[in-house]
Amino acid sequence: MIDTKLSEQLLKTTSLYIKKLNEMGLFTVRDLLSYYPRAYEDRSQFRQIHEVNIREVNTIKAKLNAIENIITPSRKKVTKAELMDQTGNVIEAVWFNQPYLATTLKNGHEYIFSGRVKLDFGRLTFQGPGYEEVKQEQVHSGRIVPVYTEFDTGPAKKNTIGSDWLRNKMHLIVHLAREEADFLPAAIMQKERLIPRNTALEQIHFPASAEKLEQARHRLAFDELFLLQLEALKRKQDYQSKVNQLGKTIPLKAELVKDFIRQLPFELTDSQRITTFQIFKDMEKAVPMIRLLEGDVGSGKTIVATIVAYHTIKSGYQAALMVPTEVLAQQHFEKIKAQLEPYGIVVEILTGSAKKSWKTFIKERLKDGSIHLIIGTHALLEEDVVFHNLGLVVIDEQHRFGVEQRKKLAAFDYPHVLHMTATPIPRTLALTLYGDQDLSILKEMPKGRVPIVTRVVPENKRMQSYRFIESEIIKGRQVYVICPLIEESDKLQFKAVTEEYNHLKDVFGQYHIGLLHGRLKSAEKESIMRDFAQGKTHLLVSTTVIEVGIDVKNATIMMIEGADHFGLAQLHQLRGRVGRGEAQSYCFLFSENNGEDAMKRLRALEKTNSGFALAELDLELRGAGEIYGTRQSGLPDLRMADLLDVPLIEKTRSYAQELLEQDPGLQHFAVLKNKLLKKEEWIVS
Ligand code: ADP
Ligand code: MG
Repeated sequence: MIDTKLSEQLLKTTSLYIKKLNEMGLFTVRDLLSYYPRAYEDRSQFRQIHEVNIREVNTIKAKLNAIENIITPSRKKVTKAELMDQTGNVIEAVWFNQPYLATTLKNGHEYIFSGRVKLDFGRLTFQGPGYEEVKQEQVHSGRIVPVYTEFDTGPAKKNTIGSDWLRNKMHLIVHLAREEADFLPAAIMQKERLIPRNTALEQIHFPASAEKLEQARHRLAFDELFLLQLEALKRKQDYQSKVNQLGKTIPLKAELVKDFIRQLPFELTDSQRITTFQIFKDMEKAVPMIRLLEGDVGSGKTIVATIVAYHTIKSGYQAALMVPTEVLAQQHFEKIKAQLEPYGIVVEILTGSAKKSWKTFIKERLKDGSIHLIIGTHALLEEDVVFHNLGLVVIDEQHRFGVEQRKKLAAFDYPHVLHMTATPIPRTLALTLYGDQDLSILKEMPKGRVPIVTRVVPENKRMQSYRFIESEIIKGRQVYVICPLIEESDKLQFKAVTEEYNHLKDVFGQYHIGLLHGRLKSAEKESIMRDFAQGKTHLLVSTTVIEVGIDVKNATIMMIEGADHFGLAQLHQLRGRVGRGEAQSYCFLFSENNGEDAMKRLRALEKTNSGFALAELDLELRGAGEIYGTRQSGLPDLRMADLLDVPLIEKTRSYAQELLEQDPGLQHFAVLKNKLLKKEEWIVS
């Protein structure tokens, strides 16, 4: 049975191996069946002995003429055999340190041998070929054979779960794939000419031909993406029908908004206008909004949030803005307060480090409605925070918050929710990851931005770059210096940042240098940031505390030590701290590792300023799980589908949409419904 435990199905397998399979996350037959091959070797074509060649893997069908163990003069144990094919040609095969082969392989029997050949004293010789006796059905040869990712535990790599071993076991159970029910609606299968799921599961392991393999791959990839989209869309549908009529209807006061926008010191970009409008449309409905605003670093998300908050408050509701760090909360507070106070709007800040009595005071005023806009960290989520009538929640840098945290804030009596993120995810991927939210994207940057110049600086040019930095400081510009990321050790991180600070004091002694890190008290952080924002410090040495959101226009140089320790997306975020005004900005990357891979990644930053392009590259180089964090983003582990396969993502999404429109409860698709029921967790509500 497909649902039985592997221990029952593979009775002859020792418990040690079963235990290892369990360690690999494989418990049932179905689990094992979804352990897809990592590659394939085409051993379907037999060569004649006179056709074998050095460049490729050769597979021949031959009779064993003779076999013997010998010891070479250099004391190696070698097994030598003579193989003869149907044409009567012979070739030699050798194996090292496997003397048992001389008894396993039988003279006169026919085998399929597969492996590489080498010239040995002028003659072609098979080097340790794989072998399999000729039977009705071949497992390891005479076909396209699957190659599995091997699994080993322990330092000595003893008892590896090898590819051949897996292939054997897979072959024992693969027929059980036939029990797998097909959950795709027949209409979709027909239209897309998909093969049945059970056939696909069989063929993915033991394909009958290259064509069948391709069909199997396509079917399994289709399933993964289709289920993913359907799940997300269903979640959204369920949520919205549950909360329908619970949302606060806020009709658009267009003139009011126009007047506010007119007094801004800049023109909104088209994207900003469109997005703002989309948000207003959402908020006119009685269904609470759940929208994700995505925009590259510096694309101007804050002002969108500010305009929307302004309108919400002028319509008689409160608004909240939640951010991941205190430093960022402080910055937003100062800027937004200055923007909104002239309109009679009361803006306050609430963070974890505030005094208890102050917190209590803020909470009272939130409750009675005398604070209109509250800006804060996750302190806003404390149990005793109660709003008078919260209409809007904006969550800035939403990827920094856990699902649970987001859920909590959103639960304040169904406010409209706007998530904002600078993680530049390609649109299709965003739809896949956040399919249960509506999506707006800020496509262009505000006018007048000069692209940042990025350089990877070799160690021997360090002094030169310091001199350049000094010349910029003399011009009145400011500099960020980011220290290497030291994982999971606050103490070491502190040490590194302090050392860097001392080092820079030697180099830039006559200038003011600030030091910012996670261990400082929040009042200290605030005053350091304020000094920097007001131009009192020339250089700010920092850990990645300043990674998100910070906006100081006069800072034009970002210097990153140990850049190889960061992911591309994170480097791009850090770089986004400069280039925010009209002056030319620079980003200098120092790397501790000059290896090819590290350099390739860093050079990518030299070439492009687009977070989207970098995100795609990062996806290719490191895989989605690594970047977005499989668990927290709700990204499932896709085994077959490619997250960059845009046409397939779009196609599966539209099928999923169509299906839900036809049959919202999936009444006619019991198997499919069942499959979805297993994961009903709603991510964002
Ligand atoms: P992010 O999207 O990274 O959060 P911010 O909202 O911090 O970006 O905006 C970056 C800077 O660009 C801010 O100083 C902001 O005032 C400015 N800005 C935003 N929109 C525009 C615009 N349309 N034209 C010019 N500058 C803008
Ligand atoms: Mg921001």
